[in-house]
Amino acid sequence: MSKKKAKMPSASTESRRDWGRGMACVGRTRECTIVPSNHYGPIPGIPVGSTWRFRVQVSEAGVHRPHVGGIHGRSNDGAYSLVLAGGFADEVDRGDEFTYTGSGGKNLAGNKRIGAPSADQTLTNMNRALALNCDAPLDDKIGAESRNWRAGKPVRVIRSFKGRKISKYAPEEGNRYDGIYKVVKYWPEISSSHGFLVWRYLLRRDDVEPAPWTSEGIERSRRLCLRLQYPAGYPSDKEAKKTKGQSKKQTNETSKRLNADDECPSASKVVKATESAEAVEPFQLSPQQQHLIGEDHPNQKLWDEVLASLGEGPNFLKKLEQSFMCVCCQELVHQPVTTECLHNVCKDCLQRSFKAHVFSCPACRHDLGQEYVMIPNENLQTLLDLFFPGYSKGR
Ligand SMILES: [Zn+2]
Ligand SMILES: [Zn+2]
Repeated sequence: MSKKKAKMPSASTESRRDWGRGMACVGRTRECTIVPSNHYGPIPGIPVGSTWRFRVQVSEAGVHRPHVGGIHGRSNDGAYSLVLAGGFADEVDRGDEFTYTGSGGKNLAGNKRIGAPSADQTLTNMNRALALNCDAPLDDKIGAESRNWRAGKPVRVIRSFKGRKISKYAPEEGNRYDGIYKVVKYWPEISSSHGFLVWRYLLRRDDVEPAPWTSEGIERSRRLCLRLQYPAGYPSDKEAKKTKGQSKKQTNETSKRLNADDECPSASKVVKATESAEAVEPFQLSPQQQHLIGEDHPNQKLWDEVLASLGEGPNFLKKLEQSFMCVCCQELVHQPVTTECLHNVCKDCLQRSFKAHVFSCPACRHDLGQEYVMIPNENLQTLLDLFFPGYSKGR
């Protein structure tokens, strides 16, 4: 069973880590499998305003996978996420809009991270990836402006506390998910600070969830109790005590803020019960999902059971996954056939069974008959693709 479970989309392994050692060296021990790594757009169950103390947690949540890099993307596809960490003094951040500078242009013989630029940047690698998000044909000479900026590919944007030196929109602590942005335009320019060519991008926010710095966003974050999240088992109060140069009063206030569960009306009990720093936001069904669930008549009873856990937020997806697991391959059903005995089996799995001259339901042994016509449940397939984007790739 444990082997089978490992193949499920939500499978994860946990191990104890020594958080006292340097964080930059910590290996990733859990990987987000709710969505594939090349997923565009929000991560299901992660609301705007979610904040993590360490980059490794941001990676585990699937919001921004590289532990160090500023952009996550593929040079022949596009960029999925980026982190604003205040790299260049001439970048502009107005919250809903910001400029971003590409990478490269450094002599690789020296120390890449602290070495000063010694060459022009090119529109290659991650610079090219981010340019591909713009709704315009790629131009690596003069850049391009989007025809319809909202039509560009979505980029998840994370602001790091490190960006505070140049932006008042950066969080005071940790790394905060600020929502979806689009690339409005990109262009090459000579950097005023070092005289070499850099690629610049203008990104604009395009998200229905309110930005965390707006009054609406602040209220929502309070309601969802989106406090700074520490890794499971991390001694959060140690963090406050070890900070150098803080007055005792400040330290006390920090501790108080970290222990402010009592002020959280909705999630404090859940947080305490699970010993998790994650606040639980009810899972929101889109109108399309609601409609399709209503149309999936054969599975109505099963849906009623699954929908009962909507209030458990991300757990809802786990429940969904378990409920629609194929009894043959032990994975989320693919091209599901909903049998007359109301079980869901992959069409491929059922065909394999029939080829072996077993003409009964793999789940309950109800006789389906040799002439049984296998018609995939399209409503259910569409729903599963909506809940687990890309899960059926390669199946
Ligand atoms: Zn199957
Ligand atoms: Zn059955």
